[in-house]
Amino acid sequence: MGLSQASPRHVATLIPAGSDGIDRLVWRCAGCGQVHAPHVKGAGSAPLAARWEWNGSLETPTLAPSLLLHAHGGGQVRCHSFVRDGAVQFLHDCGHALAGKTVAMLPEDADPWAYDDEEAPDGPNAR
Ligand SMILES: [Zn+2]
Repeated sequence: MGLSQASPRHVATLIPAGSDGIDRLVWRCAGCGQVHAPHVKGAGSAPLAARWEWNGSLETPTLAPSLLLHAHGGGQVRCHSFVRDGAVQFLHDCGHALAGKTVAMLPEDADPWAYDDEEAPDGPNAR
C-alpha cells in the first residue's frame, strides 16, 4: 500500500507568530471549503493570544475546544467541528454536506493557499 513513505504527511500548516504574537494552525476544511486558522498555543504564542489547545502535531493534530464558524453570507456556511488525531468530526449543526461525519485531514489540505489567494490567515477566523 506504500503507507510508509519517508516524507511527512502534514495535514495542517503552522504559521508562526509574527508581531501579533499569535501562532495559527491552518488548513483547508473539507467540509465548508474555507481556510480554518485557529489561534493555537505554540512556541511563539503570547500567553493570552491563543484560544485553542493544540497537541503540537502537524501530522495528527488535536485541538480543543471545538471550532465553530458562523455563516456570514458570501457563500460561507456554518461549520462546527472537533479536530482529533488528524481527523475532523463535523457536528450535526454544520451547514454543509459533511455534517455528522468524521473525515481524515489530508496532506493537500495543509497548503490551503495553493488553491487560490482568496484569504489571508486573519480572514475566516474560527470563533
Ligand atoms: Zn469548515
